[in-house]
Amino acid sequence: MVRPSLKKFRRIVVKVGSSLLIDSDAGEVRASWLAALADDLAKLHKEGRELLVVSSGSIALGRSRLKLPRGTLKLEESQAAAAVGQIALARIWSEVLGHHGIGAGQILVTLQDTEERRRYLNARSTIAKLLEWRAVPVINENDTVATNEIRYGDNDRLAARVAAMASADCLVLLSDVDGLYTAPPASDPNAQHLPVVPRVTAEIEAMAGGAASELSRGGMRTKIEAAKIATTAGVHMAIADGRIEHPLKRIAEGGRCTWFLTPSNPVTSRKKWIAGSLEPKGVVRIDAGAAKALVSGKSLLPAGVRGIEGEFARGDCVVIRNADGGEIGRGLIGYDAGEALQIMGRSSRDIEEILGYSGRAAMIHRDDMALAGE
Ligand code: GLU
Repeated sequence: MVRPSLKKFRRIVVKVGSSLLIDSDAGEVRASWLAALADDLAKLHKEGRELLVVSSGSIALGRSRLKLPRGTLKLEESQAAAAVGQIALARIWSEVLGHHGIGAGQILVTLQDTEERRRYLNARSTIAKLLEWRAVPVINENDTVATNEIRYGDNDRLAARVAAMASADCLVLLSDVDGLYTAPPASDPNAQHLPVVPRVTAEIEAMAGGAASELSRGGMRTKIEAAKIATTAGVHMAIADGRIEHPLKRIAEGGRCTWFLTPSNPVTSRKKWIAGSLEPKGVVRIDAGAAKALVSGKSLLPAGVRGIEGEFARGDCVVIRNADGGEIGRGLIGYDAGEALQIMGRSSRDIEEILGYSGRAAMIHRDDMALAGE
Protein backbone atom coordinates (compact mmCIF):
# COMPACT_ATOMS: atom_id res chain seq x y z
CA MET A 1 0.00 0.00 0.00
CA VAL A 2 1.60 3.25 -1.12
CA ARG A 3 1.86 6.01 1.45
CA PRO A 4 0.90 9.45 0.23
CA SER A 5 3.52 12.13 -0.20
CA LEU A 6 3.03 15.41 1.60
CA LYS A 7 4.06 17.11 -1.63
CA LYS A 8 0.91 16.18 -3.50
CA PHE A 9 -1.47 17.93 -1.12
CA ARG A 10 -3.01 21.30 -1.79
CA ARG A 11 -4.55 22.20 1.55
CA ILE A 12 -3.06 20.81 4.75
CA VAL A 13 -4.32 21.05 8.33
CA VAL A 14 -1.66 20.55 11.00
CA LYS A 15 -2.79 19.80 14.53
CA VAL A 16 -0.37 20.63 17.31
CA GLY A 17 -1.05 19.22 20.77
CA SER A 18 -0.45 21.01 24.09
CA SER A 19 2.24 18.60 25.22
CA LEU A 20 4.34 19.42 22.15
CA LEU A 21 3.90 23.14 22.35
CA ILE A 22 4.24 23.65 26.08
CA ASP A 23 6.97 22.40 28.37
CA SER A 24 4.99 20.87 31.21
CA ASP A 25 7.64 21.68 33.88
CA ALA A 26 8.36 25.26 32.91
CA GLY A 27 4.79 25.89 31.71
CA GLU A 28 6.22 27.86 28.82
CA VAL A 29 6.27 27.41 25.07
CA ARG A 30 9.05 25.25 23.64
CA ALA A 31 10.39 28.10 21.58
CA SER A 32 13.11 26.39 19.52
CA TRP A 33 10.86 23.45 18.68
CA LEU A 34 8.12 25.84 17.60
CA ALA A 35 10.54 27.92 15.52
CA ALA A 36 11.58 24.71 13.72
CA LEU A 37 7.95 23.79 13.09
CA ALA A 38 7.32 27.30 11.76
CA ASP A 39 10.25 26.78 9.35
CA ASP A 40 8.56 23.62 8.08
CA LEU A 41 5.23 25.42 7.71
CA ALA A 42 6.89 28.34 5.92
CA LYS A 43 8.53 25.95 3.49
CA LEU A 44 5.21 24.28 2.62
CA HIS A 45 3.61 27.71 2.35
CA LYS A 46 6.32 28.91 0.01
CA GLU A 47 5.78 25.88 -2.18
CA GLY A 48 2.23 27.12 -2.67
CA ARG A 49 0.33 24.94 -0.22
CA GLU A 50 -2.55 26.30 1.81
CA LEU A 51 -2.08 25.69 5.51
CA LEU A 52 -4.27 25.67 8.58
CA VAL A 53 -3.03 25.10 12.11
CA VAL A 54 -5.19 23.65 14.86
CA SER A 55 -3.34 24.52 18.03
CA SER A 56 -4.05 23.43 21.56
CA GLY A 57 -2.34 24.94 24.53
CA SER A 58 -4.65 27.66 25.81
CA ILE A 59 -5.50 25.92 29.05
CA ALA A 60 -1.90 24.81 29.72
CA LEU A 61 -0.53 28.28 28.99
CA GLY A 62 -3.20 30.04 31.00
CA ARG A 63 -2.52 27.77 33.88
CA SER A 64 1.14 28.66 33.96
CA ARG A 65 0.59 32.39 33.37
CA LEU A 66 -1.86 32.45 36.26
CA LYS A 67 0.45 30.26 38.36
CA LEU A 68 -2.38 27.88 39.17
CA PRO A 69 -1.52 24.88 41.37
CA ARG A 70 -1.16 21.44 39.79
CA GLY A 71 -4.17 19.14 39.77
CA THR A 72 -7.35 18.81 37.82
CA LEU A 73 -9.18 22.01 36.98
CA LYS A 74 -12.95 22.32 37.20
CA LEU A 75 -14.71 23.21 33.96
CA GLU A 76 -15.06 26.90 34.80
CA GLU A 77 -11.44 27.02 35.93
CA SER A 78 -10.27 25.52 32.63
CA GLN A 79 -12.44 28.04 30.79
CA ALA A 80 -11.00 30.97 32.71
CA ALA A 81 -7.46 29.64 32.28
CA ALA A 82 -8.12 29.29 28.55
CA ALA A 83 -9.21 32.95 28.42
CA VAL A 84 -5.76 33.97 29.63
CA GLY A 85 -3.85 31.33 27.69
CA GLN A 86 -5.54 31.88 24.34
CA ILE A 87 -4.30 35.48 24.14
CA ALA A 88 -0.76 34.28 24.72
CA LEU A 89 -1.19 31.40 22.27
CA ALA A 90 -2.47 33.65 19.51
CA ARG A 91 0.41 36.04 20.02
CA ILE A 92 2.95 33.23 19.85
CA TRP A 93 1.56 31.92 16.55
CA SER A 94 1.32 35.39 15.13
CA GLU A 95 4.98 35.99 15.99
CA VAL A 96 6.43 32.72 14.74
CA LEU A 97 4.53 32.84 11.45
CA GLY A 98 5.05 36.61 11.16
CA HIS A 99 8.77 35.94 11.32
CA HIS A 100 8.36 34.27 7.91
CA GLY A 101 6.15 37.05 6.59
CA ILE A 102 3.01 34.92 6.98
CA GLY A 103 -0.13 36.39 8.53
CA ALA A 104 -1.89 34.32 11.19
CA GLY A 105 -5.66 34.61 11.69
CA GLN A 106 -7.20 33.36 14.90
CA ILE A 107 -10.43 31.36 14.64
CA LEU A 108 -12.07 29.98 17.77
CA VAL A 109 -14.80 27.45 17.11
CA THR A 110 -17.28 25.40 19.09
CA LEU A 111 -18.98 22.17 18.14
CA GLN A 112 -21.98 24.19 17.03
CA ASP A 113 -19.91 26.20 14.59
CA THR A 114 -19.02 23.07 12.70
CA GLU A 115 -22.45 21.44 12.93
CA GLU A 116 -24.98 24.23 12.70
CA ARG A 117 -25.49 25.06 9.06
CA ARG A 118 -25.44 28.81 9.20
CA ARG A 119 -22.32 29.06 11.32
CA TYR A 120 -20.67 26.33 9.30
CA LEU A 121 -21.00 28.38 6.14
CA ASN A 122 -19.72 31.48 7.91
CA ALA A 123 -16.63 29.76 9.33
CA ARG A 124 -16.03 28.09 5.98
CA SER A 125 -16.08 31.32 4.03
CA THR A 126 -13.83 33.09 6.55
CA ILE A 127 -11.32 30.27 6.26
CA ALA A 128 -11.53 30.40 2.46
CA LYS A 129 -10.86 34.13 2.48
CA LEU A 130 -7.86 33.82 4.80
CA LEU A 131 -6.39 31.10 2.57
CA GLU A 132 -6.99 33.20 -0.52
CA TRP A 133 -5.00 35.97 1.18
CA ARG A 134 -2.25 33.42 1.89
CA ALA A 135 -2.74 33.79 5.65
CA VAL A 136 -2.73 30.79 7.97
CA PRO A 137 -5.87 30.27 10.06
CA VAL A 138 -4.84 29.26 13.58
CA ILE A 139 -7.75 27.45 15.12
CA ASN A 140 -8.64 26.26 18.60
CA GLU A 141 -11.81 25.37 20.38
CA ASN A 142 -13.47 28.38 21.97
CA ASP A 143 -12.84 26.92 25.40
CA THR A 144 -14.13 29.96 27.25
CA VAL A 145 -17.69 29.52 26.02
CA ALA A 146 -17.90 25.82 25.19
CA THR A 147 -19.50 23.99 28.07
CA ASN A 148 -19.47 20.22 28.55
CA GLU A 149 -22.46 19.63 26.30
CA ILE A 150 -21.15 21.61 23.36
CA ARG A 151 -17.50 20.79 23.71
CA TYR A 152 -15.23 18.70 21.57
CA GLY A 153 -12.81 18.56 24.48
CA ASP A 154 -10.05 17.30 22.26
CA ASN A 155 -8.46 18.94 19.29
CA ASP A 156 -8.04 15.68 17.35
CA ARG A 157 -11.70 15.52 16.39
CA LEU A 158 -11.91 19.30 16.14
CA ALA A 159 -9.03 19.24 13.64
CA ALA A 160 -10.79 16.56 11.59
CA ARG A 161 -14.00 18.62 11.47
CA VAL A 162 -12.02 21.69 10.52
CA ALA A 163 -10.29 19.71 7.74
CA ALA A 164 -13.69 18.59 6.44
CA MET A 165 -15.18 22.06 6.76
CA ALA A 166 -12.24 23.62 4.92
CA SER A 167 -12.26 20.91 2.20
CA ALA A 168 -8.63 20.17 3.06
CA ASP A 169 -7.07 17.13 1.43
CA CYS A 170 -4.64 16.31 4.24
CA LEU A 171 -4.65 16.37 8.04
CA VAL A 172 -1.52 15.79 10.10
CA LEU A 173 -1.94 15.08 13.81
CA LEU A 174 1.37 15.86 15.48
CA SER A 175 1.39 13.83 18.62
CA ASP A 176 3.63 12.10 21.15
CA VAL A 177 3.24 8.76 19.37
CA ASP A 178 4.55 7.90 15.91
CA GLY A 179 1.38 6.23 14.75
CA LEU A 180 -0.90 3.29 15.30
CA TYR A 181 0.35 -0.09 16.50
CA THR A 182 -1.37 -3.47 16.33
CA ALA A 183 -1.19 -3.61 20.15
CA PRO A 184 0.00 -1.28 22.94
CA PRO A 185 3.73 -0.91 22.14
CA ALA A 186 4.66 -0.23 25.76
CA SER A 187 3.32 -3.54 27.05
CA ASP A 188 3.39 -5.83 24.00
CA PRO A 189 6.80 -6.61 22.46
CA ASN A 190 5.07 -8.03 19.36
CA ALA A 191 3.24 -4.80 18.64
CA GLN A 192 3.73 -3.73 15.06
CA HIS A 193 3.66 -0.23 13.69
CA LEU A 194 1.21 0.29 10.82
CA PRO A 195 2.54 2.67 8.15
CA VAL A 196 -0.72 2.72 6.17
CA VAL A 197 -4.33 2.07 7.16
CA PRO A 198 -6.41 1.78 3.96
CA ARG A 199 -9.73 1.87 5.85
CA VAL A 200 -10.79 2.40 9.46
CA THR A 201 -12.37 -0.99 10.16
CA ALA A 202 -13.65 -2.45 13.43
CA GLU A 203 -10.33 -4.24 13.72
CA ILE A 204 -8.44 -0.95 13.50
CA GLU A 205 -10.77 0.59 16.06
CA ALA A 206 -10.04 -2.30 18.38
CA MET A 207 -6.31 -1.59 18.10
CA ALA A 208 -6.97 1.86 19.47
CA GLY A 209 -8.46 0.35 22.58
CA GLY A 210 -11.95 -0.70 21.52
CA ALA A 211 -14.93 1.45 20.77
CA ALA A 212 -16.20 1.44 24.35
CA SER A 213 -13.13 2.71 26.15
CA GLU A 214 -12.48 6.36 26.58
CA LEU A 215 -9.23 8.13 25.76
CA SER A 216 -7.45 4.83 25.83
CA ARG A 217 -3.77 4.52 25.06
CA GLY A 218 -2.87 8.16 25.38
CA GLY A 219 -5.60 9.50 23.18
CA MET A 220 -5.39 6.97 20.33
CA ARG A 221 -9.15 6.61 20.58
CA THR A 222 -9.85 10.23 19.65
CA LYS A 223 -7.27 9.98 16.88
CA ILE A 224 -9.13 7.06 15.33
CA GLU A 225 -12.38 9.01 15.68
CA ALA A 226 -10.62 11.85 13.89
CA ALA A 227 -9.47 9.44 11.17
CA LYS A 228 -13.07 8.33 10.63
CA ILE A 229 -14.30 11.91 10.29
CA ALA A 230 -11.42 12.89 8.02
CA THR A 231 -11.45 9.90 5.69
CA THR A 232 -15.23 10.08 5.28
CA ALA A 233 -14.81 13.69 4.20
CA GLY A 234 -12.18 12.86 1.59
CA VAL A 235 -9.18 13.86 3.74
CA HIS A 236 -6.04 11.71 4.09
CA MET A 237 -4.78 11.76 7.68
CA ALA A 238 -1.40 11.10 9.26
CA ILE A 239 -0.49 10.52 12.90
CA ALA A 240 3.15 11.40 13.43
CA ASP A 241 5.55 11.98 16.27
CA GLY A 242 5.81 15.70 16.73
CA ARG A 243 8.38 15.64 19.50
CA ILE A 244 11.34 15.75 17.14
CA GLU A 245 12.43 19.01 15.55
CA HIS A 246 11.09 19.63 12.04
CA PRO A 247 8.35 17.01 12.25
CA LEU A 248 6.71 18.02 8.95
CA LYS A 249 10.00 17.89 7.08
CA ARG A 250 10.44 14.41 8.50
CA ILE A 251 7.05 13.28 7.18
CA ALA A 252 7.81 14.82 3.79
CA GLU A 253 11.04 12.81 3.71
CA GLY A 254 9.19 9.58 4.38
CA GLY A 255 9.67 9.43 8.17
CA ARG A 256 7.72 7.01 10.31
CA CYS A 257 4.03 7.76 10.78
CA THR A 258 0.64 6.14 10.15
CA TRP A 259 -1.36 7.27 7.14
CA PHE A 260 -5.12 6.76 7.09
CA LEU A 261 -6.24 6.79 3.48
CA THR A 262 -9.49 8.08 2.06
CA PRO A 263 -11.04 6.48 -1.00
CA SER A 264 -12.50 9.84 -1.99
CA ASN A 265 -11.51 13.47 -2.30
CA PRO A 266 -12.88 16.53 -0.44
CA VAL A 267 -14.96 17.83 -3.35
CA THR A 268 -16.67 14.53 -4.14
CA SER A 269 -17.27 13.77 -0.46
CA ARG A 270 -18.77 17.16 0.13
CA LYS A 271 -21.06 16.84 -2.88
CA LYS A 272 -22.17 13.43 -1.67
CA TRP A 273 -22.86 14.87 1.76
CA ILE A 274 -24.94 17.69 0.30
CA ALA A 275 -26.76 15.39 -2.13
CA GLY A 276 -27.51 12.57 0.25
CA SER A 277 -27.12 13.25 3.94
CA LEU A 278 -29.07 16.42 4.56
CA GLU A 279 -32.79 16.80 4.78
CA PRO A 280 -33.89 19.55 2.35
CA LYS A 281 -35.75 22.40 4.02
CA GLY A 282 -37.05 24.12 0.92
CA VAL A 283 -37.14 24.47 -2.84
CA VAL A 284 -35.58 27.02 -5.16
CA ARG A 285 -37.07 27.18 -8.66
CA ILE A 286 -34.83 28.55 -11.35
CA ASP A 287 -35.16 29.59 -14.99
CA ALA A 288 -33.63 27.89 -18.02
CA GLY A 289 -30.75 30.35 -18.24
CA ALA A 290 -29.73 29.70 -14.64
CA ALA A 291 -30.07 25.93 -15.15
CA LYS A 292 -27.65 26.16 -18.05
CA ALA A 293 -25.24 28.26 -16.00
CA LEU A 294 -25.26 25.70 -13.17
CA VAL A 295 -24.45 22.85 -15.53
CA SER A 296 -21.49 24.82 -16.84
CA GLY A 297 -20.15 25.12 -13.28
CA LYS A 298 -21.47 28.52 -12.23
CA SER A 299 -23.02 29.58 -8.93
CA LEU A 300 -26.75 30.26 -8.66
CA LEU A 301 -27.36 34.01 -8.70
CA PRO A 302 -30.59 35.59 -7.39
CA ALA A 303 -31.36 36.85 -10.92
CA GLY A 304 -32.09 33.32 -12.17
CA VAL A 305 -34.42 32.38 -9.31
CA ARG A 306 -38.16 32.30 -10.10
CA GLY A 307 -39.63 30.90 -6.92
CA ILE A 308 -38.86 30.06 -3.30
CA GLU A 309 -40.69 27.53 -1.11
CA GLY A 310 -40.20 26.46 2.47
CA GLU A 311 -38.99 27.88 5.73
CA PHE A 312 -35.23 27.60 5.61
CA ALA A 313 -32.29 29.42 7.14
CA ARG A 314 -28.94 30.34 5.65
CA GLY A 315 -26.85 27.20 5.37
CA ASP A 316 -29.81 24.81 5.10
CA CYS A 317 -30.03 22.32 2.28
CA VAL A 318 -32.56 23.13 -0.45
CA VAL A 319 -33.66 21.35 -3.63
CA ILE A 320 -33.01 23.21 -6.86
CA ARG A 321 -35.76 22.64 -9.45
CA ASN A 322 -36.08 23.80 -13.05
CA ALA A 323 -39.13 25.47 -14.56
CA ASP A 324 -40.81 22.07 -15.15
CA GLY A 325 -40.30 21.04 -11.54
CA GLY A 326 -37.50 18.56 -12.29
CA GLU A 327 -34.75 18.31 -9.68
CA ILE A 328 -31.49 19.76 -10.94
CA GLY A 329 -29.59 19.34 -7.72
CA ARG A 330 -29.27 20.37 -4.11
CA GLY A 331 -27.28 23.00 -2.32
CA LEU A 332 -26.63 24.91 0.87
CA ILE A 333 -28.40 28.21 0.48
CA GLY A 334 -26.66 31.47 1.31
CA TYR A 335 -29.79 33.29 2.49
CA ASP A 336 -32.76 32.78 4.83
CA ALA A 337 -36.10 32.10 3.08
CA GLY A 338 -37.43 35.63 3.73
CA GLU A 339 -34.33 37.25 2.27
CA ALA A 340 -34.24 34.86 -0.66
CA LEU A 341 -37.83 35.86 -1.51
CA GLN A 342 -36.86 39.51 -1.53
CA ILE A 343 -33.81 39.19 -3.75
CA MET A 344 -35.04 36.53 -6.20
CA GLY A 345 -35.13 37.68 -9.79
CA ARG A 346 -32.96 40.67 -8.92
CA SER A 347 -29.42 41.54 -9.83
CA SER A 348 -26.74 40.77 -7.23
CA ARG A 349 -25.83 44.45 -7.38
CA ASP A 350 -29.18 45.31 -5.78
CA ILE A 351 -28.78 43.02 -2.77
CA GLU A 352 -27.43 45.73 -0.50
CA GLU A 353 -30.22 48.12 -1.34
CA ILE A 354 -32.92 45.46 -0.83
CA LEU A 355 -31.61 43.83 2.34
CA GLY A 356 -29.74 46.72 3.89
CA TYR A 357 -26.44 44.89 3.93
CA SER A 358 -24.06 43.68 1.26
CA GLY A 359 -24.75 39.96 1.21
CA ARG A 360 -23.10 37.34 -0.93
CA ALA A 361 -23.48 37.64 -4.69
CA ALA A 362 -24.59 34.01 -5.05
CA MET A 363 -27.82 32.52 -3.72
CA ILE A 364 -26.05 29.15 -3.73
CA HIS A 365 -22.31 29.03 -4.28
CA ARG A 366 -21.12 26.35 -6.71
CA ASP A 367 -18.90 24.80 -4.01
CA ASP A 368 -22.03 24.33 -1.89
CA MET A 369 -23.98 22.60 -4.64
CA ALA A 370 -24.36 19.03 -5.88
CA LEU A 371 -26.01 18.64 -9.26
CA ALA A 372 -27.99 15.50 -10.08
CA GLY A 373 -25.74 12.89 -11.62
CA GLU A 374 -22.58 14.63 -10.44
N1 GLU B 1 -8.59 23.31 23.45
C1 GLU B 1 -7.72 22.88 24.51
C2 GLU B 1 -6.60 23.89 24.75
O1 GLU B 1 -6.23 24.62 23.88
C3 GLU B 1 -7.03 21.57 24.23
C4 GLU B 1 -7.74 20.41 23.71
C5 GLU B 1 -6.73 19.30 23.36
O2 GLU B 1 -5.62 19.33 23.86
O3 GLU B 1 -7.03 18.42 22.55
O4 GLU B 1 -6.03 23.93 25.79
